[in-house]
Amino acid sequence: MNQNSLSLDQLKKLFTDLSLHMISNKDLLTHADQAIGDGDHGIGMARGFEGVLKKLENDASISVDQLFTNVGITLLSSIGGASGAIFGSFFIGAADGLKGNRELDSNSFILALQYGLEKVKELGKAKIGDKTMVDALEPAYIAAKECSNQSLIQITKKAATAAENGKEQTKQYIATTGKAKTLGERSLGHADPGAISMVLILKFCAEFVEQTLTKE
Ligand code: ADP
Ligand code: MG
Repeated sequence: MNQNSLSLDQLKKLFTDLSLHMISNKDLLTHADQAIGDGDHGIGMARGFEGVLKKLENDASISVDQLFTNVGITLLSSIGGASGAIFGSFFIGAADGLKGNRELDSNSFILALQYGLEKVKELGKAKIGDKTMVDALEPAYIAAKECSNQSLIQITKKAATAAENGKEQTKQYIATTGKAKTLGERSLGHADPGAISMVLILKFCAEFVEQTLTKE
C-alpha cells in the first residue's frame, strides 16, 4: 500500500525517536548557545525531551492533537527559559491545527506548521531576521504550503531544507531578541541555537517519514 500519512502509533514512535535524537544533540546545541547566549539551550532541550520520553511511556492520547498537546505541555513545563515557552507553544499551537485527527497527512502537516508558527509569533513577537527559531520555522511553513499537493515525504523534506536555509541565514543577522541581543554585532557569523533545534526537529521528521512510509 502506498501510505501517505502517519498513524497515531507511528507518530508516538516519531516523538520517541525524536526525543532520543534531540538528547543526543545536547552538546551541539550547548556549543551553539555558548557562542551567542548563555549556553543552556542544549541542557534545556535535552531535559525537555527526556520529559517527553517519560511521558510517552504511559501516554493515553487517542488523537493526534492530544499527542501534540501532551508533547508541548511536557516541553513547556520541563525546559524552562525562553525556549521552553517557545518550543512548548509550538507543539501546543500545532495541536490546534490537528483537532480530532487520527493521522497526520500532507494537509495536516502544513496546518500544524501554520498553527505552531502563529502561536510562537503571538507569544514571542519575533519576525524573520530577529535571529530566532522563527527564521527556520517560517520558511519551512511557506515551503510546505507551496507544495501542498505533494506527498508527505516530499513536503517534510522541503520543509526541512527550507528550515536549514533559514537557519543558515541567521548567521548574517544581528540578534534583536533573547539573550543574544546584548551581543549586538558579535552575534554575526553564528547561527541561532533555537533555529538549529528547529532544523534538527524538521530534518528528523523528514527522515522518519521517508523511512516509515517507504517501508509500507
Ligand atoms: P534562554 O534564551 O532563556 O537562555 P534558550 O537558550 O534555551 O533560552 O533558547 C534560546 C532560543 O530561544 C533562541 O536561540 C531563539 O531561537 C529562541 N527564542 C528566544 N526568544 C524568542 C522569541 N521571542 N521568539 C522565538 N524564539 C525565541
Ligand atoms: Mg540560553
